[in-house]
Amino acid sequence: MHKEHVYLGLGSNLGESEETLHRAFDAINNIEDTRLLRKSSLYSSTPMGPQDQPDYVNAVCLIETALKPHSLLKQLQAIELAYGRERKGERWGPRTLDLDILLYGAESVATTDLIIPHSGMSQREFVLVPLFEIAPNMIMPDGKPIAQWVANCTLDGLRRLRTSN
Ligand code: ADP
Ligand code: MG
Repeated sequence: MHKEHVYLGLGSNLGESEETLHRAFDAINNIEDTRLLRKSSLYSSTPMGPQDQPDYVNAVCLIETALKPHSLLKQLQAIELAYGRERKGERWGPRTLDLDILLYGAESVATTDLIIPHSGMSQREFVLVPLFEIAPNMIMPDGKPIAQWVANCTLDGLRRLRTSN
């Protein structure tokens, strides 16, 4: 069975966020034909967009999966729902669990419901820093090494949580 290496981004800022992310790692590992290969530490970050919401807990992981991009998205959305994600329709608003597909092998996807590489992944320090932790030699979609992107981050408001892993 052909399997792809896929990087996922995880985020939560409502409820027991650290616990939710630990459980999300388990749920991801339990997706059919999918295996969790590596996970980052958990990080806390100040919110993007509306500031009147709690800080986020973020992480990334590397999985190996036989699922195609849209099937994987469906499984991830089912996990988001299982953790009681409430959608209020507000962009960048608070959420109990957000799961994003950052990279799917070397594939690009551009459909209305799925865009890969995830837009903004190279600009968001709460994605870049955990990615750099688990994939320090990664070449980003623009062809630059991840180290170069990380070196240009302000690291404002990002903190590695000591209780992680
Ligand atoms: P955000 O993650 O930007 O805060 P949401 O989690 O609410 O936004 O996602 C909104 C929509 O983004 C989802 O319904 C999904 O179809 C779409 N989407 C597009 N590209 C991706 C991706 N790479 N990973 C996850 N969702 C994506
Ligand atoms: Mg999302």
